[in-house]
Amino acid sequence: MTFTIGVDIGGSSATAVAIDETGEVVDRYRVSGRIEGGRQVVAAALAAIRSFELDECVAVGIGVPGLVDSDTGHVTMAVNLGIGVHPYALAAEITEAVGFPVTIENDVRAAALGAHESLRLAGDPPDSLAMVSIGTGISAGVVLRGELLRGTHGMAGEIGHVVVDESAALCRCGQRGCLEAVAAGPAIARAWPKGLDGNAATALFSAAAGGDPAAEKVAGRIAGYLTTALTWLAAAYDTERIIIGGGVSDAGDTFLSAIRDRIYRQAALSDLAARRLRPEQVTLALRDDPPGPRGAAVLAARILPTHSLPTQRVSPARTQATNAK
Ligand SMILES: [Zn+2]
Repeated sequence: MTFTIGVDIGGSSATAVAIDETGEVVDRYRVSGRIEGGRQVVAAALAAIRSFELDECVAVGIGVPGLVDSDTGHVTMAVNLGIGVHPYALAAEITEAVGFPVTIENDVRAAALGAHESLRLAGDPPDSLAMVSIGTGISAGVVLRGELLRGTHGMAGEIGHVVVDESAALCRCGQRGCLEAVAAGPAIARAWPKGLDGNAATALFSAAAGGDPAAEKVAGRIAGYLTTALTWLAAAYDTERIIIGGGVSDAGDTFLSAIRDRIYRQAALSDLAARRLRPEQVTLALRDDPPGPRGAAVLAARILPTHSLPTQRVSPARTQATNAK
């Protein structure tokens, strides 16, 4: 049996899974802590990869929040990781350290593929889906006929920096009123600073569902922005499913109900809107099978030749030797 490893690197955590040839997750890894700059991204990825005691790991896929050239393995504009306009040769550095093939993809694009793979394994693969991640930022990935849509510049699905309200807050990208600046996790925390443990979305949507008038107003505004974004995706790609992931989706059923209510209301006003997007097409990502690392592992498997997979050991000796450098 051979295995692929999928690593999902964010600005404040790294998660990883090892997946066997049947698609089963055989081991998991998660570590929290600020990751800043290319060297720390490499170190975090290597720590995740070497946490698995697998004799027959054959390839690694890594998802990072930034613009990724999947042909060269270079990353740019990973703002949350402190990587700017100068390309960082992430795939080459990690390949050299681990000795087996490494592929890099944008984290949300990888998650879209991971969500599709989970549904395929459950026997219910959609022809197409869009994955929307709502966390520190907002982004989307689109899978059409089982294939990831990257676009000309690797930006297909970068909806977070589309301006939705020019009178709203300045975004870190330099524009004013981006979707991300008004509806991502930090914007929700500013609008509803009553969440515990940084979980403002859970507090907000629970309070709104419980009938708190102030929460209803804020939740309605946020749900409105997010439903608009889902409608963009439905109008542009007409996918069978739209799956919402990211930290804000941890708010769960009350959050999903708020989104679906907006879609119901649009559908009630217009036959066209009703055909474009139905509430039941929108679901939340599975919490026990996070799509990001799974999708990265799927991409890793795809860079291998179909047969005669090479094998490499991930040995403690190499871990120590490399860490000592
Ligand atoms: Zn922006």
